[in-house]
Amino acid sequence: MNNIYRCEVIAIDGGAATGKSSTARALAEQLNFMHVDTGAHYRTLTASLLQLGAVPKQTARIAAHLKQLHLSTELTGQSALLSINNKAPSNENIRSAKVNASVSLFAALPDIRKFLFDYQRGQLLVAKKYGFKGIIMEGRDIGTTIFPDAKFRFFLEADASTRAARRLKEGVNDSITNRDDLDKTRKMAPLVCSKGAIRIDTSQLTLKDVIERILAIINIKQDD
Ligand code: C5P
Repeated sequence: MNNIYRCEVIAIDGGAATGKSSTARALAEQLNFMHVDTGAHYRTLTASLLQLGAVPKQTARIAAHLKQLHLSTELTGQSALLSINNKAPSNENIRSAKVNASVSLFAALPDIRKFLFDYQRGQLLVAKKYGFKGIIMEGRDIGTTIFPDAKFRFFLEADASTRAARRLKEGVNDSITNRDDLDKTRKMAPLVCSKGAIRIDTSQLTLKDVIERILAIINIKQDD
């Protein structure tokens, strides 16, 4: 277990409701790593743009708005949250049905992805500043684009009925297949399993099973 602390980045990618967030949070707690949910970054920018009344095709307006934004990080427990102009958005605000419906459209815009790139990579320094041994970052393009050199890259999957049931249980109004389609087909940093990442199908697994599987793999790969 001590060996784990040599690693600095664990990337966890996958579609919506595949178990990324609960896995990443639980692993972060167990390993004393900082947890970064990059989906929340796209949601935060989307909420800010929706508040402005912007729509995804207004690229010039969006680019001008992004120039007004200063990004920083607020730590809540082990999770790093994105603040815009020193204000962290509420969870309700970034997980509303309106944000669910448009986040993938905004996330497909190259200006938005480029805007977040340095901030997301910079989270490693934030983790070090707060004394964490590394970060667990979850999203869609962490293993392919943000940290393609991370030694530990996982891609979570689950069958459609399991994913739909998970969302239903959460009582969330969210068309996850629609979001996945948009995320998989966009030009920049599409949702795809990065080369060399380990796929885990979580459909029949409990959270504990997933964590055990990942920890076992990390311990084996640590010696590579
Ligand atoms: O993870 P979550 O479901 O909250 O992500 C919301 C949306 O943010 C995704 O459907 C996707 O469009 C976008 N996203 C992304 N790249 C990431 C993380 C999320 O494009 N790394």
